[in-house]
Amino acid sequence: MTQASTTRGPEPTDRSIYSVRNVSRRYGELAALDDVSLEITRGEWLSIVGPSGSGKSTLMNILGCMDSPTDGIVLLEGDRLDKMGEPELATVRREKIGLIFQQFHLVQHLTACENVMLAQHYHSIPDEKEALAALERVGMAERATHLPRELSGGEQQRVCVARALINHPDVILADEPTGNLDEVNERVVIDFFHQLHDAGTTLIVVTHDAEVAAQGQRQIILEHGRIAREVTDVLSTPTKGKPVTRTEIR
Ligand code: ADP
Ligand code: MG
Repeated sequence: MTQASTTRGPEPTDRSIYSVRNVSRRYGELAALDDVSLEITRGEWLSIVGPSGSGKSTLMNILGCMDSPTDGIVLLEGDRLDKMGEPELATVRREKIGLIFQQFHLVQHLTACENVMLAQHYHSIPDEKEALAALERVGMAERATHLPRELSGGEQQRVCVARALINHPDVILADEPTGNLDEVNERVVIDFFHQLHDAGTTLIVVTHDAEVAAQGQRQIILEHGRIAREVTDVLSTPTKGKPVTRTEIR
């Protein structure tokens, strides 16, 4: 395990999917992110942890093309996200990024299948078969015609995972994906993340849960909008399905 207490990330390489350079996001006097630099390697599973209000969601929103920095540079596959306006950001979002949230954000009057197709709709002609196949992958095919309120939290999050996958994103960004789930459903979601990671998807996961964080190959710890610390797991085998106690977070 190596630790660094610098906000300056390593130099960018061809393997970087994201390069974040001296990024700040200010709200008036408050710097929600304060001069953050970070390289994220293609295919990496990165965990982002830190206390409430430390800037985790702000960073995720910038990486997810839902917000822009007030200072600094953000590159995704070489494209300057910080220079883009909403229409361009929306294109990047739907073509490259799958988003998963703690609060699910499903459309309440649409069925599970329609929610997945809605995401697909932005990308191409909606294809119910493809949406059903995505629901099948997360074990939700039989619930395809259910409304969100007819599903448990864990089932709703599985629908969200299917929705995130439907456009075959290069990167999955998940902000507290297991925050509203019981242990069984947390396991289901984490196992699914392992499958995606094994298939080469880049995963960036914000979490309060030490066990979830320890699934990542690297953890960055945010405090007051800065990277306070970074922990790199030296064990090459991920801890699939096991409780993790060896990785210290704080
Ligand atoms: P975390 O996800 O780590 O809990 P956030 O990124 O949501 O933290 O927030 C970081 C800081 O930025 C907090 O102090 C929060 O109050 C502030 N903040 C976030 N969004 C806004 C906003 N839209 N307007 C003003 N302040 C905000
Ligand atoms: Mg947050």
